[in-house]
Amino acid sequence: MRFKPKPLKSDVKFECKFCLDCCRGRFIYLTLHDIKNIMRRGHDPQDFILLTAEEGKIRFVLAYREWDLGCVFHDPETGKCKIHDYNPLICQIYPFMVSYKPLGIEGEEPFEYNGEKLWLYYDESCPGIGEGKEVITREEVAELGVRFHKEFEKTDLEGLNSLLNGENNGT
Ligand code: SF4
Ligand code: SF4
Repeated sequence: MRFKPKPLKSDVKFECKFCLDCCRGRFIYLTLHDIKNIMRRGHDPQDFILLTAEEGKIRFVLAYREWDLGCVFHDPETGKCKIHDYNPLICQIYPFMVSYKPLGIEGEEPFEYNGEKLWLYYDESCPGIGEGKEVITREEVAELGVRFHKEFEKTDLEGLNSLLNGENNGT
């Protein structure tokens, strides 16, 4: 499933329907902080990290099952995430996304957050948008998005090597 971005112009209700669409058939980017968090709970990095190259940079993404392209941490029986309490930041942000520049979509406008201009979006293909009682604020989305971008920037192969060698304590 592709992210179909729509501008997030106000706070919005959201309730996950466990349809699995966001946990299958897409790259779920990992930061060093995510990797460390997951390893700490006893998961072997060889079982959940894949490497990919993008614009000359090595990126880390969650491994997926061959038979349905689902994330290795998705439980096909319950439809839920097996690592929900410590899942990657990008999973916590979804079905929202934060960009430091506009995507060129009709109706988008900048959102000021801590002195920065951000562009916030939601995925219109997620059936949980507008559902349930919980309200997600734009501040919450912006905070997670900024945190993800900062962590993602300092995520590289060198950092992963240090982490695997037990040298990295600062992520
Ligand atoms: S696409 Fe939306 S409703 Fe479906 S699992 Fe993902 S967050 Fe939940
Ligand atoms: S870690 Fe959990 S929420 Fe994230 S893609 Fe995998 S199953 Fe889905």
